[in-house]
Amino acid sequence: MTRLLFMSLLAISLNFACQNSASTTEQASDKPTEISTEVVQFANEKDPVCGMSIDSTTVEIAEHDGKKYGFCSASCKADFLKDPAKYLSAK
Ligand SMILES: [Zn+2]
Repeated sequence: MTRLLFMSLLAISLNFACQNSASTTEQASDKPTEISTEVVQFANEKDPVCGMSIDSTTVEIAEHDGKKYGFCSASCKADFLKDPAKYLSAK
């Protein structure tokens, strides 16, 4: 019983991982005018791991092969860094 409850809670928190990271970046940007002048160019428009669109305000950035890749969450970035070629070749 308790184990099942734990598993469903885990599934729910994983589900919301992407949205959570988006809301934290919003709260962090107290001065949007200053931040918008410094737009980071990503090599990708979408998170190569989960397919979510990448916002220029994302804090999850990884460099691979001289290019910057943005991610929706730290877990997607970690997955990408484990095997970048796997995600970059899958199109
Ligand atoms: Zn993602």
